[in-house]
Amino acid sequence: MVETYLQDLRNDSAGNGVPVKDAYFLGRLDMSDGPDDVSFIGQPGFGHRMVTKLTGVYSLHFLPMGFVQMIVLDSDFQKKYYKFTFVRREFLGEVRCLVIDVQPKEGQKIARFVGRIWVEDQDYNIVRFNGSYAPQPRANFFFHFDSWRLNLRPGTWLPAYVYSEESNLKTGLSRGMHFKGQTRLWGYDLKGLGKSEEFTQILIDSPQSVKDQSDAAADASPVVAERMWEKQAEDNAVERLTKIGLLAPPGDLDKVLSTVVNNLLVTNNIDLQGDVRCRVLLTSPLESFTIGHTIVVSRGLLDVLPDEASLAMVLSHELAHIVLGHRLDTKLAFNDRMFFPDENSFQRLDFRHKPAEEEAADAKALDLLKNSPYKDKLGNAGLFLKALQDRAPDLPNLIQSHLGNSMAEGKSVRMSTLLAQAPALDEKRLDQIAALPLGGRIKVDPWSDQVELSKAKAVALTSAREKMEFELTPFFPYLTRLSTGTTDKMALTTTTPTSDTAAPEQK
Ligand SMILES: [Zn+2]
Repeated sequence: MVETYLQDLRNDSAGNGVPVKDAYFLGRLDMSDGPDDVSFIGQPGFGHRMVTKLTGVYSLHFLPMGFVQMIVLDSDFQKKYYKFTFVRREFLGEVRCLVIDVQPKEGQKIARFVGRIWVEDQDYNIVRFNGSYAPQPRANFFFHFDSWRLNLRPGTWLPAYVYSEESNLKTGLSRGMHFKGQTRLWGYDLKGLGKSEEFTQILIDSPQSVKDQSDAAADASPVVAERMWEKQAEDNAVERLTKIGLLAPPGDLDKVLSTVVNNLLVTNNIDLQGDVRCRVLLTSPLESFTIGHTIVVSRGLLDVLPDEASLAMVLSHELAHIVLGHRLDTKLAFNDRMFFPDENSFQRLDFRHKPAEEEAADAKALDLLKNSPYKDKLGNAGLFLKALQDRAPDLPNLIQSHLGNSMAEGKSVRMSTLLAQAPALDEKRLDQIAALPLGGRIKVDPWSDQVELSKAKAVALTSAREKMEFELTPFFPYLTRLSTGTTDKMALTTTTPTSDTAAPEQK
């Protein structure tokens, strides 16, 4: 999977770049037959003239040469085309690297990489390269980029992150363009996730409710049959999203989210039939939705939420849908409905609720929060919503939803009652953090799609410019070598059963 998110910046009165436009691309890169990509986002969504312009720039100048090369450097990277100058040795994380400056030799007919490469000193894999392409063609240009690879398999370093930035880019299309872009790659082992298929098929046939029934050796009662039917639709959708690389496999982060959900349930004395599960959507746009009793929150949303009370605010809305019994469209319980190409997932899977159900969920969520341990800390949650409302018109591609209801649509913002209780938004105040930058909280393993909380420590901000709410920043991953020990551990995690409920039955 390849995801690119771009923000176009304008300088505010203080001279700081503030994002005023954005663009989003999600697709699957197929390198088996030469570089090619399949977009998950239908063209109709790209109606905005402004976005089309960015898209145009992107498609003209990133694809296929620029964009794919930001991942592969040069498909014909040879000594006869380049001059190499050794600079120094340097550690990237715990990996010792040779740092080498690279320039194309004179008289090249096609554009070649120019910049710096970092080469690890054991097997001599390129682990990072930073620069652009030269010469710049007359009717074209190449962006500058910083491209990182991670050691994901023994001896194999695979592209994971690309940061690109361009300030004061002068083109015929747009004068003085200034933008930042993050590209993330993941889902290298989607085939591995597919291997659990056989196992999960068994799982569908034996949910808890079936087991209860089989003790009595009776057919399911109408109510139980209906619950089982909804559970089947839920499982089908969750499995499909996991297999195509949109949902992270079950993991520890889900348990962190479940703890917050349980705090809400216990303090409200609610006993739901069947467990509520939480899962993480691997994409950047800020969204959350429910699939039956499964609450899904996107990586991007988890990244930018400032604190636990804000997380509780997001989860309480989804939990309210479950408590109120809002139904999942059970057409997905018929397995033939799951036969569609992966890139049509956003069109074929829709977990949106009607406006009346959204309002009811907002009201119920406020009740849940009022009785919860988060009741005195909702000021920050309101502040987050204010910032969201503030930025939504400029960042429609970040503050949107592909699978559920959007957090902010037009003038309406989810849980808007909390807005009234929030303090005034003040961009200059250093102690007021309404939202975090993208990419600071959640770490994705690009091989297994496992997610975990980042270990990076919070640092004290020195100026308001460093708040960077909802903004993109460069990547500086701490590179490590995969030892044989960790390989075994990774192999184990990828074959772990995909559901908690399944584990006891296997033993
Ligand atoms: Zn909702």
